Amino acid sequence: MRFLLATHNLKKQAEIQRILGPLGIEVLTADMAGIALTDVEETGTTFRENAYLKAHTGCLESGLPCIADDSGLCVDALGGAPGVYSARFAGEHGNDDANIQKLLEALRDVPDEKRTAAFACAVCVCFPDGRLLEVEGRCEGKIGYAKCGNNGFGYDPVFLVGCRSFATFTAKEKDAVSHRGNALRKLCDALPAYID
Ligand code: IMP
Repeated sequence: MRFLLATHNLKKQAEIQRILGPLGIEVLTADMAGIALTDVEETGTTFRENAYLKAHTGCLESGLPCIADDSGLCVDALGGAPGVYSARFAGEHGNDDANIQKLLEALRDVPDEKRTAAFACAVCVCFPDGRLLEVEGRCEGKIGYAKCGNNGFGYDPVFLVGCRSFATFTAKEKDAVSHRGNALRKLCDALPAYID
């Protein structure tokens, strides 16, 4: 069974393909499927809404079941920010260094015990017959005081799980505890009831 994945990110495609492959699912990006998809604006106020917007559009435009995810970092001392604005916290979309700089500056005077945060991930699957499957995953941690480690992406160098930053985790170690890993494991458990 072919599923469209509403992302251009080939690393996400490979990760989701690894997890859903054993269910007999082939996960394709729009490019891989030869389909031109509208680039959906992430106008939702929650990760769940944004995942739905992308999956719904992808399903309508392709006629295939479509998977989309949305994720980000929620910092308690900042009232849950940057949240759905994680990728563009410092203005320019996807400028990881600037985003981290802005985060560390915002938390400059925040003591250790108040630096709690969580990564969150929402995954949505829209089926052509109108059915909808939604799952969410979280990973609790803390924000450090300086960047540490070279792996991963985004806020990984300042997100601490225990005393290590995510950027020091191997991909396998991160998958085992990450927000995305947790959401995808729930998806994998729930999907068999939706497919023949
Ligand atoms: P997206 O939903 O994958 O587009 O992620 C939105 C933004 O959230 C990214 O640009 C990162 O800034 C942040 N983010 C999401 N997941 C992670 C992660 O696993 N590590 C670090 N940053 C992340």
